[in-house]
Amino acid sequence: MRSETTHGIHLSHKIAGMKTNRRNFIRTTGLLAIASTASIESVFATSAAFPSKNKKNGLSLSFVPHELQLKHVFTLANSSRKTTPDVLTKIDFQGYTGYGEASMPPYLGESIESVIRFLSKLDLNQFTDPFQIEKIMHYVDSVDEGNCAAKAAVDIALHDLTGKIMKQPWHNIWGFDKEKTPNTSFTIGIDTPEVVRQKVAEAEPYKILKVKLGRETDKMMIETIRSVSDKPICVDVNQGWPDRSRALEMIYWLKEKGVVFVEQPLPKTAIDDNAWLTQNSPLPIIGDEAVQRLADVKKAWGVYSGINIKLMKCAGMREAHQMLTAAKALGMKVMIGCMTETSCAISAAAQLSPNADWADLDGNLLISNDPYTGMEIKQGKICLTNESGIGIDVKEKLF
Ligand code: MG
Repeated sequence: MRSETTHGIHLSHKIAGMKTNRRNFIRTTGLLAIASTASIESVFATSAAFPSKNKKNGLSLSFVPHELQLKHVFTLANSSRKTTPDVLTKIDFQGYTGYGEASMPPYLGESIESVIRFLSKLDLNQFTDPFQIEKIMHYVDSVDEGNCAAKAAVDIALHDLTGKIMKQPWHNIWGFDKEKTPNTSFTIGIDTPEVVRQKVAEAEPYKILKVKLGRETDKMMIETIRSVSDKPICVDVNQGWPDRSRALEMIYWLKEKGVVFVEQPLPKTAIDDNAWLTQNSPLPIIGDEAVQRLADVKKAWGVYSGINIKLMKCAGMREAHQMLTAAKALGMKVMIGCMTETSCAISAAAQLSPNADWADLDGNLLISNDPYTGMEIKQGKICLTNESGIGIDVKEKLF
């Protein structure tokens, strides 16, 4: 069993990796709220691990690992996987509960262990007013660098909590028109023609297809889809094309095939090449890996036509809303995207979608163990619920 000790917290990879039956394990351990000095083992062995020194009027943060099971093996330009590590959070305050989530696709560098380590360092109990989101998130951001998914898990729970206290969903609080939600795209990973055709058939209710490219099979992927569907396609290369001239040639070919935009075609570090491509491309070029947080929006101006905002990259809804506003002010297109996530983070992101140009919020549909219900897709369009906060209900109580 591989293990490590950091900041006084003993992390067991066997426990955090949940090779045993995760669900039963979580059920038997019950509520998981970890004081910063507690060992992970002692917390998992305790049935009610809330720190007893909690102030009664402060915010109480709890969290539990929940590995997401993918319905299909998911293949990107450089990796394949069948699960996504995930940590569910909640913040309790005066009889209200707000839910949040951290999803950690491996290429972003966070893990169940790192999220638990980060959340264990936080003392939210010092805050007695959940509406001080700016102040609370400034504190959370200052505790350590990076850890954006872990920070998002706190931010989303805070928004859910405050929305519930106000008895309003966040799209109302922000003043967005619920009817203006965009269609969402449905993602098709890199696969064999047979599986690609099967996925296109599964995507029947969706009006836009999102295709992962960046391998030798790029033209085959597009031609396979075009053999069975004439829906608009958006393309995500995940930095998979190394050369700007060949990328431009490919983009002209894609335009003829009915592609509407191309996401992160070149490596994010190739700033001049991305700017050249955007200037010469007949299709909009969207920055994803290159645009993580608010400060990156300004850097993306002139380099990309638009940005892909994801809660797990930008530490949550507060900063995502700021990025949306900044990008619009700079005349850029905005896409609201996601990782593979439960309906918790997806519904949180969907609150922003009425003011976005495009949405790629299908992450909850790719997993088979979603403990929440929330935003729904009807005939390909995002439909926000009238539920307060981030608009979710608990389907399966995990903690
Ligand atoms: Mg992308």
